[in-house]
Amino acid sequence: MHFTDYDLVLYDIDGTLVDTGGAGMAALSEAAEQFFGAPSPTLDLAGSTDLGIVKNLLDHYGRSNSSIDINDFFELYHDRLEANLASGLFAGYIHPGVAEHITTFTNHGAAVGLLTGNTSRGAAIKMKHFLLDHHFSFGAYGDDFADRNLLGPVAMNRASLLLGKSFSPQRTLVIGDTPKDIACAKAMGASCLAVATGQFSMESLHDHGATYVLQNLTKK
Ligand SMILES: [Mg+2]
Repeated sequence: MHFTDYDLVLYDIDGTLVDTGGAGMAALSEAAEQFFGAPSPTLDLAGSTDLGIVKNLLDHYGRSNSSIDINDFFELYHDRLEANLASGLFAGYIHPGVAEHITTFTNHGAAVGLLTGNTSRGAAIKMKHFLLDHHFSFGAYGDDFADRNLLGPVAMNRASLLLGKSFSPQRTLVIGDTPKDIACAKAMGASCLAVATGQFSMESLHDHGATYVLQNLTKK
């Protein structure tokens, strides 16, 4: 992969930039239990959007979409997320090579944003906690659409609006750690750099059709 091949670079958060040490998972479970009044089911978070997770929760608790105000749930989740990250009880960390990887793209003039299943606010909380927030001024988020495959064009349009220039999928790179990130890149016609810093091996990511696969972001 050449850093100069891309004008628009979109990073996933969990498993790609950072690992919250379970703070995010715990926040979702705690919010679900408090909001729905019964223990949370086991959640499959890898590559999922937060809206998609809420849909799964509604199925689990036998509730309809119209029976809740989703913003109330997210408010509870965001409060728990902030509290968990601040508590120091979760051993979160930034994955190796992240800051240098991002700045190499920005130094080449690429626009760098987020493409994540996190809500916009959840993404901001995580990026601020890990002191990565100054790198990202736009993104597409898990409260834009439940379907991650719809998020690529959202990020591209926001980059265009913010920066006043147009971008093409052919010169866009999506960076993530799951088959869902790869599918999302393909859905918009972009390339995908997959990293094995999440739950999936390099072999598995390769088999899912990633354009490039790396062990982590220190490898160029
Ligand atoms: Mg991820």
